[in-house]
Amino acid sequence: NADLAMYAVKDKGRNSYHFFDHTMNETVLNKFALENDLRKAIEQDQLELYFQPKINPLSGDIVGAEVLLRWKHPHRGMVSPVTFIPVAEESGFIVELGAWVLKRACEINREWQSRGMPIVPLAINLSAANFRHHDLLPDIRRTLEDLKLQPNFLVIELTEGILMNDVDETIQTLQALKDMGVYLSVDDFGTGYSSLNYLKRFPLDELKIDRSFVKDIISDPNDAAITAAIIGLAQNLKLSVVAEGVETTEQADFLLRRGCNTMQGYLFAKPMPQEDFEQMLMSGINMGEMQAVFMVDG
Ligand code: C2E
Ligand code: MG
Ligand code: MG
Ligand code: MG
Repeated sequence: NADLAMYAVKDKGRNSYHFFDHTMNETVLNKFALENDLRKAIEQDQLELYFQPKINPLSGDIVGAEVLLRWKHPHRGMVSPVTFIPVAEESGFIVELGAWVLKRACEINREWQSRGMPIVPLAINLSAANFRHHDLLPDIRRTLEDLKLQPNFLVIELTEGILMNDVDETIQTLQALKDMGVYLSVDDFGTGYSSLNYLKRFPLDELKIDRSFVKDIISDPNDAAITAAIIGLAQNLKLSVVAEGVETTEQADFLLRRGCNTMQGYLFAKPMPQEDFEQMLMSGINMGEMQAVFMVDG
């Protein structure tokens, strides 16, 4: 029975076989098509960097921005990074993609500095293959030197999974980045398996509380407790702490009261194209009545 046909596909990453039914097979074919298209995306200018501000809700200051990759596919429209980053990772194309994002982000920041705009550190996301690649350190060093960009204007976001895989190598690479002056941030903190012992040994600068905890801090006492604990941990380890995915004033208020005053989320701004972010950098973020809400008894 053709409908029941199973397909075995080698999973490169895990060295094991997975079985897919018909619907999954369609996804696999889709993935190959995407992978092919993705290789052309850079040369055909279909990739674009979006920017989402990190803000201090008390002052309304934009203290940085995260660079998020967008792909305008000629037929499929906007393809989410949640779809194409895993495809790029599996195919190895992530190496090229990561190098492109690094270079573009630094070029754009340099351009803003040359134009005398207010400038902020830009954070790029790295996948495991980017972080482990032997070209990473020379690439970053050369990019910063060529552009004469101060290293503290580059932030690197890494997940716990990346950090905890081969800890000795991780420490070496982090230390080399730290020595260069690049700022190091742990993305989606709390969702992985960080050993607190290693966290102490990694030369990090920032923890980003994962959106999944922030989402229910008001209604779920466990999420509230975890979030408060992460903020406390960051403070004790002398790390900055950023909350991801802040969508309501109640969440922002909770976070402020617990001592987290750097936030990112739809409440303040969604990721936006370069031109829009430039506008926001120049005019400042319009917090409206929001700021007054946060000012009430500190
Ligand atoms: P991430 O690094 O954790 O980025 C945060 C994601 O949360 C972004 O999704 C952002 O648009 C979304 N977000 C921000 N604020 C809110 C909010 O208030 N509510 C909700 N519901 N979502 C919010 P996006 O842009 O779709 O990116 C998804 C993931 O794709 C990123 O997660 C990152 O892991 C990956 N990614 C994006 N760009 C790159 C890249 O250049 N390189 C690599 N390796 N990964 C990337
Ligand atoms: Mg990130
Ligand atoms: Mg994140
Ligand atoms: Mg996240």
